[in-house]
Amino acid sequence: MNEFMEKRVDFKWSEPKKTYDVIIIGGGGHGLSTAYYLATRHGITNVAVLERKYIGGGNSGRNTTVIRANYGIPEAVKFYQRSVDLYESLEDETERWLMHKKKGILWLAHSEAAVRQERARADVNTAFGADTTYITPKEVKELVPEIDLSGGNLFPVMGGSYHAAGATARHDRVNWALAEGAMKRGAHVHQRTEVIDLIKKGNKVIGVKTNNGDMYADVIMSAVGGHVTRLTDMAGFRIPIRSHPLQAHVTNHYARTFHPIVASTSLLFYVSQTARGEMLMGAEIDRQPSYNYRSGHHYLQSCSFRAATLLPFLRKLRILRQWTGICDMSPDYSPIMGKTPMDNFLITTGWGTWGFKAIPVGGETMAELIATGKTPDLIKPFALDRFRKDRTKADRGSAGTH
Ligand SMILES: Cc1cc2nc3c(=O)[nH]c(=O)nc-3n(C[C@H](O)[C@H](O)[C@H](O)COP(=O)(O)OP(=O)(O)OC[C@H]3O[C@@H](n4cnc5c(N)ncnc54)[C@H](O)[C@@H]3O)c2cc1C
Repeated sequence: MNEFMEKRVDFKWSEPKKTYDVIIIGGGGHGLSTAYYLATRHGITNVAVLERKYIGGGNSGRNTTVIRANYGIPEAVKFYQRSVDLYESLEDETERWLMHKKKGILWLAHSEAAVRQERARADVNTAFGADTTYITPKEVKELVPEIDLSGGNLFPVMGGSYHAAGATARHDRVNWALAEGAMKRGAHVHQRTEVIDLIKKGNKVIGVKTNNGDMYADVIMSAVGGHVTRLTDMAGFRIPIRSHPLQAHVTNHYARTFHPIVASTSLLFYVSQTARGEMLMGAEIDRQPSYNYRSGHHYLQSCSFRAATLLPFLRKLRILRQWTGICDMSPDYSPIMGKTPMDNFLITTGWGTWGFKAIPVGGETMAELIATGKTPDLIKPFALDRFRKDRTKADRGSAGTH
């Protein structure tokens, strides 16, 4: 627990009940956000969030907190822009300081192909409501004076796109504010409660078996991050998700202010400065799918080399901490949300390396689906059956990973 949680957050813990209107499996950002929006937008509070460990103990408390909407396809731009907007008012709404900070995000291009890609990104973003412009190397240098535009004579900066709305927010505060907002309106959150099986009747999921007993509900939603295929195995259908580790690390304090978030799509790394002044970095997923939380030297070496080549000041800093999360990677790098082949059983998954930014909009849209039974337009493109219908939403270039 941090100071914020101990002194400020007001949780109302309850004993588990036998039946609820809605059971949400997984107390990460997406599960908690769905409970929050069910309570605040639809007045649905007979809801339980079941978390096998502790709130935010999955990827929602392990990420690098980048919020942005500079995606490459119209459906994604509109979806993530809605989340950017919701994040901007979330502090006022929850009356919690989430340390939300608008910083702007810069995506660097190091080849003619990457320049074309960033120009196209700026155009599609502008057309669909996200504020992104193409910028020249000179403008890159103005935004980030520390950058070596020659890229150590290896990766010259040839241009980039600048997304002014890019932001960060403190991840654990987001999780706990959403949990508190749902709980104070009557929703239950049960930590240390693991779903070990689903209770089915014909083609319906009607309940869950947990280490705290069986519970039943009219609607059951899986929001279990990288563990989703365990849940879909229990439900009896398959989804195209592979779980890959993703690592990140922070350095010690950098004495100067480093304002924007800087990313390179070709070199696959990104860097931002935390509120403590640490430099926070991440790169691509580990190639081998696994549930292994171990962090490795290979990642540190290769990410640091690429980052320090463009930002030489990083060489003088020391690495303080490194960690890993398990990401639910979809084949088209877009989320999978909504109904499933099993009645009463919904999923929100495929959040891979990009789901923190989507926590508000993911919760808002899943809550609307649960409350109305109708899939909101914003998430129709991300339905599971798109793979069967050959209507994938490929946007790999925007995921910041390969
Ligand atoms: C290193 C790293 C950096 C990242 N950086 C960013 C970033 O900068 N920007 C961004 O947008 N995204 C980022 N992401 C991705 C983002 O963190 C995730 O996509 C997002 O947090 C997913 O939220 P979630 O609620 O779906 O899953 P999670 O937060 O993982 O929550 C799922 C929860 O389900 C619980 N659970 C699992 N199985 C069961 C069960 N059987 N019963 C009960 N509970 C269960 C788990 O304990 C977990 O708490 C990053 C991820 C990592 C790992």
